[in-house]
Amino acid sequence: MACGFWNKILRVDLAKRQSTTEEINDEACKLFLGGAGIGAKILWEEVPPEINPFDANNRIIFSVGPFQGHPVPGSAKFCIASKSPLTNTYADSAAGASWGPLFKKAGYDALVIQGKSESPVYIYIEDDKVEIRDARDIWGMDSYQTVDRIREEIKDPKASVAVIGQAGEKLVKIACVVVDKHSFAGRCGLGAVMGSKNLKAVAVNGSKEVPVSNLSQLKSYNRRFFQEIHQASIESELRTHGTPILCVTAEGYGDMPIKYWTGDTWPEGAEKIGAPNYTNVLTAKPYPCLYCPIGCHRYVEVEEPAEYKLKGTGPEYETLGMLGTNLLIDDLRAISIANDVCNRLGIDTISAGACVGFAMECYEKGIISKKDTAGMELKWGDPNILIDLVKQIGNKEGFGSIFSGGTLEAAKEIGNNALELVVHVKGLDFPAHDSRACWGLALTYATGTRGACHMRGVEEDVEMGGFYIPEIGVTEEFAELFNPKGKALLAAKMQDYCAWLNSLVLCTFMADGGGLSLTSILDLFNSITGWDWDADEAMLCGERIFTLQRLINLRDGYTRKDDILPPKMYIPAEKGFRAGKVPPLDDLLSEYYELRKWNEKGQPTEERLRELRLDKFKKPSD
Ligand code: SF4
Repeated sequence: MACGFWNKILRVDLAKRQSTTEEINDEACKLFLGGAGIGAKILWEEVPPEINPFDANNRIIFSVGPFQGHPVPGSAKFCIASKSPLTNTYADSAAGASWGPLFKKAGYDALVIQGKSESPVYIYIEDDKVEIRDARDIWGMDSYQTVDRIREEIKDPKASVAVIGQAGEKLVKIACVVVDKHSFAGRCGLGAVMGSKNLKAVAVNGSKEVPVSNLSQLKSYNRRFFQEIHQASIESELRTHGTPILCVTAEGYGDMPIKYWTGDTWPEGAEKIGAPNYTNVLTAKPYPCLYCPIGCHRYVEVEEPAEYKLKGTGPEYETLGMLGTNLLIDDLRAISIANDVCNRLGIDTISAGACVGFAMECYEKGIISKKDTAGMELKWGDPNILIDLVKQIGNKEGFGSIFSGGTLEAAKEIGNNALELVVHVKGLDFPAHDSRACWGLALTYATGTRGACHMRGVEEDVEMGGFYIPEIGVTEEFAELFNPKGKALLAAKMQDYCAWLNSLVLCTFMADGGGLSLTSILDLFNSITGWDWDADEAMLCGERIFTLQRLINLRDGYTRKDDILPPKMYIPAEKGFRAGKVPPLDDLLSEYYELRKWNEKGQPTEERLRELRLDKFKKPSD
């Protein structure tokens, strides 16, 4: 058994109401690590292209990596992978709280769920005990009620519970998975995949000691890095203000969404919803995942006005962007309520904001009218419309039910050139970063294996935020905005780096905001595994995992024609920092393909697959 792993997969078949364990060998652990890597391997092997995301034969995989089970700063993460109902191909989404470490301590590297239960159930794992329990009484509860109810039923207030809300039950394709009421596997509709299996939740607790190669060295690194990250996060103000600290800067660079990607600037709005105003108005405090020295999540308390009274998880930067500036809404308390509604119903706040913004734009342009919206006036800047509409989307009722398939399906239904307005890649709505502002990010979006995602590259923080990784040559020279030179290389390197982090599984903020260097991450990794990897080996592993995800995309029918940006991303701003600028995507893409050793169709060459030890993952027909 390799240190840092159990070499053990737990498989639960909901149709047969059966759980079994199976071995994952040392070689697979070395090639794919865990998290997103193991998720991609299992999806490749078990979910062929003809399987629909809501088919009982689709898999949903909860996986951890070598970092879970030890108090490594930022290691309270895990990954959920499946075939996405939004993109119809590979998807993964990471969440925190304490599910990952507790699952690892229960003695497993991954949980593979297959089949569909005849009636609602939840899975309860406590070390070797695995139960499939009746959830008929819980079905219909919101995500927060579900966490409380399950902890009560299993008599374990410390268990970590990953759940779906009503949106997942109703197969709303932007449904997320909610963990312990404050962390979210938000993207790609994985909550709806759980719903399609009649699976309400997975609760876990564990008590085993994970094997480690050099425990005393690991303990000493943990102590040192915890202090250093904590200090760095105070200096970067990520600890003090959380991700709302980004709003004013991002808006200044033209990075924040404004009026569903049709506006250029809105500094007053960003200032009102961003820190420090956010911290004062919402009395916000850090709400950390387990073992976290930063605590980027926010716990907020609002006393008045009465209709916006709230205690609990507050909105983060992405939510502020998509439910705030994206809709010209600057009322922080109203955004916090809309965020709370999304969290309880279990819908991704990014895609929810995209749905509302798209609807407002269609209404403004006369593509839809009050006749379609059952009398709602979808005016920009109206917080009541936002709150009403996210309730409708999550409950799949009223006009909001048009979004049960996401923006793209809604646009197809609406017709009248509405498709031209949707801002997505491969069916996944843009997060709150504008690819016209960061050209490395434009490539990351266009080639993203789960669609448009800033967390699968974080170039925006290299290009705008001074986040560098000198060990892999990501230095200041890449940071020149609106200069295409080096952006293809930057995108490839950052995608590989993030694929590696998502397979460890480590919170990106430890490095990006917490200052944890790649060398320090390798120190942690090597003290756990005893493998003595260097940066080159880590990056090769990241590239292998990213490429396997790409192979799944290709097998599911995606090609170069899908490595594109939506039409709005070619309309330059008239004013502000990015005035007149749009990324030269075609040129960047050709350079990127060449660097990746992909052919003109966007397929990795046989030679590169061999170098990555992926030759046996090739499509048989190639
Ligand atoms: S930085 Fe945020 S997301 Fe990362 S582990 Fe800490 S609280 Fe969780």
